[in-house]
Amino acid sequence: MAMQDELARERRARLAAERLLQLKQGELCEANRKLSLHARNLSEEIVVKREETQVLRQKNDAAMMELETARGAVRIAEQRLWDSVETIRDGFAVFDSGGEMIVANSAYLAPFAGLDCIGPGAQYEDMLRIAAEEGVIDTGGATRQDWVEDMLWRWRARSIPPRTLRLWNGSFVKLVDRRATTGDTVSLALNITGTIRNEAKLKAARHKAEAANRAKSAFLANMSHEIRTPMNGVVGMSQLLADTALDDEQRLYVETIRSSGEALLVLINDVLDYSKVEADRLTLHPEPFDLEQAVHEIVTLLRPSVGTRDVQLLVDYDQHMPGRFIGDPGRVRQVLTNLVGNAVKFTETGHVLIRVSCLPDAAAGAQRVHVTVEDTGIGIAPDMASHIFGEFNQVEDDRNRKFEGTGLGLAITKRLVELMGGEIWVDSEMGVGSSFGFYLTLKPAGPNAAAPPPAPDWLMRLLVVDPSPGSAEILRRQLAAQKLDAAVLNAASDLRHAAPGPGDVVLLDNALPGTETLVSDLRGSGFSGPVFLVGAGRAPPGVDVTGTLAKPLRRHDILRALTGTPPPAAIPAPAPKRRMRVLAAEDNRTNRLVFTKLVKSAGIDLQFAENGREAVDAYKAERPDLVFMDISMPEVDGKDATRQIRAMEQENGLPRVPIVAMTAHAMAGDEAAILNAGLDFYLTKPLKKPQILGHIARHCPPDCHPPLPESSEDGPGDKAADPALAAARA
Ligand code: ADP
Repeated sequence: MAMQDELARERRARLAAERLLQLKQGELCEANRKLSLHARNLSEEIVVKREETQVLRQKNDAAMMELETARGAVRIAEQRLWDSVETIRDGFAVFDSGGEMIVANSAYLAPFAGLDCIGPGAQYEDMLRIAAEEGVIDTGGATRQDWVEDMLWRWRARSIPPRTLRLWNGSFVKLVDRRATTGDTVSLALNITGTIRNEAKLKAARHKAEAANRAKSAFLANMSHEIRTPMNGVVGMSQLLADTALDDEQRLYVETIRSSGEALLVLINDVLDYSKVEADRLTLHPEPFDLEQAVHEIVTLLRPSVGTRDVQLLVDYDQHMPGRFIGDPGRVRQVLTNLVGNAVKFTETGHVLIRVSCLPDAAAGAQRVHVTVEDTGIGIAPDMASHIFGEFNQVEDDRNRKFEGTGLGLAITKRLVELMGGEIWVDSEMGVGSSFGFYLTLKPAGPNAAAPPPAPDWLMRLLVVDPSPGSAEILRRQLAAQKLDAAVLNAASDLRHAAPGPGDVVLLDNALPGTETLVSDLRGSGFSGPVFLVGAGRAPPGVDVTGTLAKPLRRHDILRALTGTPPPAAIPAPAPKRRMRVLAAEDNRTNRLVFTKLVKSAGIDLQFAENGREAVDAYKAERPDLVFMDISMPEVDGKDATRQIRAMEQENGLPRVPIVAMTAHAMAGDEAAILNAGLDFYLTKPLKKPQILGHIARHCPPDCHPPLPESSEDGPGDKAADPALAAARA
């Protein structure tokens, strides 16, 4: 049993072991199956990866090839760029933001040849120090330290200013440095040695040309001196000859000599002026002057050249603007004389109107003075408007040909206006007229204008009769500005309606037809108040008027005329007591003869001195009222003689005698030298009768017989006539 049990138990154990074996074999089989499945998956994955690796390797090869090609292109571009930078003769370098040199071409480094420390990697500051210490650059007198500091200051500026340096070998480089957006600084060293040498050559050539120009100017001055001196004889003698008894033919010849001589003088003056402006030798002499008076004087001087033509000369000077300004009176007059002279020359009938107005120029603390000269003459074609401002340029057509001229007047005028900081222009219409305008910026001199004389107590009303609407309108505005109770009438018949009575003053324009009858009618009507003729030189004999007034009327002319004029009769002037004593120092016999004849009509006591010493003696002995002094005389010249006279006056507390210089010199500077010697006025030879008589009239003392100026002597084209005459007449 036990055996059986034992066997059963063994059989059961064997069966259990067989079953376990069977189970394990199943499990093993399953594991084997899974393993072989995984191995198959793995080998499939390896195949895929191998294929992918193959593709990637191909791509990589292609990229490597492209990279190699790009690297080659960059190398070529870099080489080309560098070759280009190397071939330029100017220096090129780049510095980083810390001032370290990154690259530089050999031209940039050339001045430092042999100094190995200067190259890429060097500091800008070190480069400067070495340049200064090794004498690479010329520091231009500055110490090395100062030079380096100055250059560093420049280098640190936000926008680096260009700088020119001179190197040890005499060559010049211009440093132009620019900051790049990256913070780097690109530095160019331009070799400008050629330009500097050319500039030096040009400078030398300019100096030479200027010297030649000065020589030309001096030559012209001498020529003018040489030509003017004999011209004095020609013009003076022909003037005297014209005053003698001549038959018609002789008179024609003499007049031709005189007018040709005067025309030649105008030409000489024009050429001389132009060459002075051109050679920059024309200097302005600013001083306070009365612009309003200058305008009126020019009108007075040019009136005779209107002759018999029906042309009115009108002045419209803005009554609210100053009369006096600071400027060069001679040059302002010259500009006005040229423009007004042309307007008169080219106008057959109508008017020439000079308008003066001004606007404040706050920036310059001055006034912008506008002047227009308007005429109703032949006009200028539009295409000629700028041509006429050129030298020797004239309008060449039938209407112009009959007028004389040099074609230099407007060229000089334009240059003068520009020299005085102004501008000139013209508006014109053929057959209608021209309007030349210019402006100058001038500072007013002193108060607005001289205070007007007070209106007389008895004055009630001013009755002004002026037939010209233009002139009447100007007058109306002028009187309104002076706040005078006035009526401006256009016709004589209006005067009858106005019925002048006590307290009224009548002003009649001389252009009214039948002024004489008008005045006698007025007097016949019982009017005994003041009557003035406006625009008449002298009242015709037998016409019962109080006086005459020059036209155009200046501001306050009327009030001045009325001052001391009690209605109805005028106070007779006190009788003259003695003849005026005039001393003339002149070494040339012909000139003394000319002078004697020129002043013959003046009724003066004339004494001559033949040199400066005699002039001083005559001054001591005679105490003249006026001295005319030649400048270049033997022994003691005019300037020395004047100095001696002035010294004597000072020592003895004597009044200052007016001394007028007579000279043939005409260059800038002469006038100043003469006036500095103590002379008061300046006349250029050949002398003219109106100039001399003008001075005599102006300086005639109250206790002397006043000389009469001779208005017939003002010839046309008397552009340079002395304003003293006009002043004396006014
Ligand atoms: P000129 O000595 O000939 O007058 P300008 O230079 O003064 O020389 O003038 C040049 C030219 O301009 C004159 O010849 C004339 O043709 C023209 N011109 C100047 N002013 C006037 C004007 N007011 N009316 C007409 N033409 C004028």
